[in-house]
Parts: sequence; C-alpha cells; structure tokens
Amino acid sequence: MHGLMMDTPLTITTILRHAERVNAASEIVSVTADAPRHRCTYADVFRRARQLANALTAAGVRPGDRVATLAWNDYRHLELYYAVSCMGAVLHTLNPRLFAEQITYIFNHGGARILFADQTLLPLVEILRPGLPALERLVVLGPDYEAFIAGQPDRYDWPELDEREASSLCYTSGTTGHPKGVLYNHRATLLHSYGSTLVDTLALSRRDSVLAVVPMFHANAWGLPYSVPMVGGKLVFPGPKMGDGATLAALIAEEQVTIAAGVPTVWQLLLNYAREHDLVFHSLERILVGGSACPLSIMNEFRDRHGVWCVHAWGMTEMTPLGTANAKPPGYDALSPVAQDAFRVRQGRPAFGVEMKIVDDAGRELPWDGASAGLLKVRGPWVCRDYYHTGEPSAAHAEPGWFATGDVANIAPDGTLQITDRAKDVIKSGGEWISSIDLENIAAGHPDLLQAAVIGVPHPKWDERPLLIAVPRPGATPTREGVLGWLEGRIAKWWTPDDVVFVEKIPLTATGKISKVELRQQFRDYRLPA
Ligand code: AMP
Repeated sequence: MHGLMMDTPLTITTILRHAERVNAASEIVSVTADAPRHRCTYADVFRRARQLANALTAAGVRPGDRVATLAWNDYRHLELYYAVSCMGAVLHTLNPRLFAEQITYIFNHGGARILFADQTLLPLVEILRPGLPALERLVVLGPDYEAFIAGQPDRYDWPELDEREASSLCYTSGTTGHPKGVLYNHRATLLHSYGSTLVDTLALSRRDSVLAVVPMFHANAWGLPYSVPMVGGKLVFPGPKMGDGATLAALIAEEQVTIAAGVPTVWQLLLNYAREHDLVFHSLERILVGGSACPLSIMNEFRDRHGVWCVHAWGMTEMTPLGTANAKPPGYDALSPVAQDAFRVRQGRPAFGVEMKIVDDAGRELPWDGASAGLLKVRGPWVCRDYYHTGEPSAAHAEPGWFATGDVANIAPDGTLQITDRAKDVIKSGGEWISSIDLENIAAGHPDLLQAAVIGVPHPKWDERPLLIAVPRPGATPTREGVLGWLEGRIAKWWTPDDVVFVEKIPLTATGKISKVELRQQFRDYRLPA
C-alpha cells in the first residue's frame, strides 16, 4: 500500500547508530582488572566495536555464530555486546558464579567456539577448559583483547539485519534439570529498551548517571547496556568489584550516580557499608531493585537516610527481563504510612507491552482484586516463546501464546502486581498458602535482624509449616521468643513460624538471591519442636 511509514527494522544497530551520533560524548566509567577507573565515551566504544567486528570476522565468526563471554560489567564487555549482535552473531553471556559443571553445560549447549574471558576469571577458565572441546579461541579481556582488535580498521559497515534475528543468549538455571537458554532477538531487545526507559518504569534520561551492579551475564544487566545508550545517560560499571561496598560507595559519590540497579542483597551490603562509614549518598535519586522481593527495611533505610526512592521491579530472564515496576502512583504522598508501605512492597504495574493474568490450579482466570493469588502468566513481544533447543516441549508454554512464570501473585484493580512466592517455594499449611515472601519481608523489619528467609518444613498435621531462618545484625542477640513476639499482630496468627533458627549466613544463588533450594537442603533433617 502507498503512503505508509518506512519499514525500518527494530534492531540493536539502530541504538548503536543513534547513540554514536547524538550521544557520542556521553561517558562510560569502568572498574577493570587493569584500570581502577577507566573512562571513555560512547564514541570510543562504538569505534572500538567496529574494530572488534573486523577482528571477529577475521577470526572466522559468521552471522548466527555464538560468541561467549565470561566477564564482569565494563566497557570491553559493552563493546562485545554491540559488535557481536550488530554483526549478526549471537552474544552468549556466561555466569561465572555458577558451578563449573553448569557453566560447561551452558557453554557447550550454546555452541560457541570463541570465548572472551575476564583476566580475573582465568583460574576458572583453566578448570573449565578440558570440558569445552569445541572452544577454539580464548581472548583474555585485557592486553590480549587489545592486541586482538589493534590494527583492525575502525570502519565496518554494519549489515541491515532482520529484526527477528537472534542477538543474544542467556541461560536461566532452573532448580531441576539443565539450565535453559533464552534466545533474545533484536526486536525484543529494542522494544524492551523503549519500554524500560518510560517514566513510570525506570524513567531513564540523559541526565542520569547509571550504576549497573546487576551483572551483564544476568538477563543482559536488565537491559541497561541498551536502554542507557538509547537515552544518552552515563554508564558506570563496577567490573569485578560488584560485591564490594567501598567500591560501590566511591563510584556513587565520585561519578554522581543518580540511579543504581541490583538485587536486594547488594543493597543490603551497600547500606551496611554506608552506615558503618557514616555516608549519605547525595546524588542518588533512585535504586532499581529486583530479582527477588525487596524487604521494606531496605527501602526504608534508603528513603530515610539517603532520600532515595526504590523502584521495586519484577522480571525474569525469559522477559528480557522487565515485567513490572512500581513508580510512585498519583496521590502517593497523601497516603498513610501504612498504605505507603503496602504499596512499596508490591512490584508495580506492567510496562506497556507486557500483558499478564493470574490463574488457579485449574487454569481459571482470577480477579484483579489485590487478594486472590494465582499462578502468573505473561505474554508480549519481549517474552520468550520457547526455550533454546531443549528437545522437549516446554511445560511453561503449555498454554499457547502465554508463558507461565512459575511465580504466584495477586494483582490489584489498578494492575499493581504483588509476587507472593515462587510456586515451588509456597508453603502449604492445611491446604492454605502462606506467602514466604510476605513473612520474610516482615521478619526482616525486626530491628535486630539483617536478613530473613522462610521455608516450609514437613508437619504431621498441617503438611507443611513455616520455619524462619534469620541472620542477626552484627552485635545484636535476638531471641526466638522476641522475634515471634514481634511478628504477633503483624501477620495472621496461623502464619506464625513454628520455629526460628539463627544462622551466620544465608546461602545465595549465582545471581545473588536467597537460595531456597540450598536452605531446604541444609534443613532437610530439621524437625520442628514438638
Ligand atoms: P531471573 O530470571 O534469574 O531473573 O529470576 C526471575 C525470578 O526472580 C522471577 O520469576 C521471580 O521469582 C523472581 N523475582 C524477580 N524480581 C522479583 C521481585 N521484585 N520480587 C519477587 N520476586 C522477584
């Protein structure tokens, strides 16, 4: 038909072109093994990405090939993000915190022949190498990488790609079976970047200085390597120091960070550091927190001590990853403190593009009344349609056109979501569900507790009862009775944990979340008090 719009493909290359042209001078600051504070601009990164694309071509990488990375967040990893995807190949990011057997499986399943690895991770690469028979070329991110791209022309004509072509690959580790690959394409990545810059999602702007603590191997650092260049903000990368409070605090102060993104455990660590060193983060406006439910105690400390709003967001690797985000609603400031708290523990409203519904065990849709909890299903242009080459039908995609998230949630009439559990973590007591996330949130608010986790343990009468596992704050000596007394009146009586166990440390997963699997393992011989 005549008179229609141009059919420009929605590719990552369009972000690259735009960012290079209009945001050329925006800065990228990285901590790397060879430079404590490396500084460059988008213009530098995209020029080097062209050299890298030439070097990859010379190394035999062709469109559709997978290129693997085992790397922290820094400018070289960003160059790989753009060079690999925009030349038509597929960037396969590996999580170095997984068990060696899992990384081996993921690398081999992805099928890359070339691996870019951070120099701090070379000992790990040595362990992995005998199990990676297809690996032909290892490039170490440091002088080796510089030699790899040196002498390559900085001209490279990015091909016109089809927006539905694959751009990157990331595996999500299920609790059973092998990790599963999620294959992103250009279109999903671009639309996700639009969706995540919106004011009521992450509200990213050119004025922002964005500290991406969430790793580039965890759901593409929540899309920040694309969305921030799209708007022209400054990118701040902590490199191998993402778990180091001193480095994070210094980056925030010195780089005038306005928004920082990561999982709750990172923020707990940073808050502890700030408290111990009497720091206040003046430049910081927002914390983007997701990956697991953020306890109110973390959000309160950010608000009260640092004047920071926590954007509580929910998403999944399978969703590129943004699902919902809780921007301040209209009338928020006039709400009572209790109503404000009730709002902030929710994960917010869906970004435009994400449709959701909750269903009961029989698949019947449940009302959006803020109370009925059911299995959460989603669909949209950046939700995965299937897993990458598993060779078997995906149970999560059993209902055509929908993806079953495995999360249990309720949805308020205005579309505000609250995740109450992972389906497999839910505690079923006498046939009724107890939300482990709610219990954890409330328990973590106890002044003497640093962290709290709740698991279900077998019970002869009720099938399962909640067990609270808690880490005391340094110097504090909370008691079982004290904690249970504190919960009284804050939760339904029948939700009261049957026991409280104090531990020094709660095990974390490779993406920094509380590992319920490991906790259940640790407490498998535990018997409730009679
Ligand atoms: P991943 O793919 O590793 O990012 O894990 C996705 C899962 O993390 C989701 O299915 C949820 O179970 C959990 N999750 C992510 N964000 C949140 C959140 N804000 N609150 C509760 N759970 C979350």
